[in-house]
Amino acid sequence: MKSFSKLFGLKKFLIPLVSAFGGLTFGLHTTQVVLAAPIESRQKQIVVVDAGHGGPDPGAIRGQLLEKDVNLNIALNVAHMLRKDGIQVCLTRSDDNDLANSYDEKRRRRHRADLQERMRLIRSESPDAVVSIHCNWSRNSSAHGAIVLFRHKGMEGEHLAEDMVESLHREGIKADSSRSSRSLYVLKHTKVPCVLIEVGFLSNSTEAKALGDHGYQSKLASAIESGVKEYLNAKDSKSPIGKFNMVVE
Ligand SMILES: [Zn+2]
Repeated sequence: MKSFSKLFGLKKFLIPLVSAFGGLTFGLHTTQVVLAAPIESRQKQIVVVDAGHGGPDPGAIRGQLLEKDVNLNIALNVAHMLRKDGIQVCLTRSDDNDLANSYDEKRRRRHRADLQERMRLIRSESPDAVVSIHCNWSRNSSAHGAIVLFRHKGMEGEHLAEDMVESLHREGIKADSSRSSRSLYVLKHTKVPCVLIEVGFLSNSTEAKALGDHGYQSKLASAIESGVKEYLNAKDSKSPIGKFNMVVE
């Protein structure tokens, strides 16, 4: 008991000392010592999780299943998981409302106002990564699988997309990454690393059934969470202070 108090006293002394010399962070939650990945020691990493559509804009519809609800469930799950990892998360929406003002009544104008407000939020956060979540639709009913879209080849968004695809594969989910040929607002106007994930096709009956299932939604969320973490860790290890970061729990 005495030696434990001594150790605890030493720890109290070491926290400010070591933190000052390279960003080492200590916390004593369990008796087990765990060396965690670099990212978990950095409080300042911020991720914006954007659930597509909302409010009067349902996105794609398949029977009772609305894209906006699928997107929101996955986004809330991702946010919860990332927060548990110690990452700061900004959700563009956390309920069934879009971000347009009530006076933006005309559908087209409202949609634009909604997107502009999402962009304003993203800019104000200066996040390390942005993940926008949507569901896909195709006239070809056999089309299925997730598609992770990024804006420019060779830029950070592509690295984030690659990490996301690998993570989806590990969960057994068919996924590809692709440069967006469409002029998607969020990708086009975001300067920070950003991907738009089409998590699956509502036009495919099997996949639509899965997308409406809470278990599958959490599986997708878990893959997205680890894709983001891997991307941030890789980015962190390239930074000059990254290699000194460590968490002891
Ligand atoms: Zn959508």
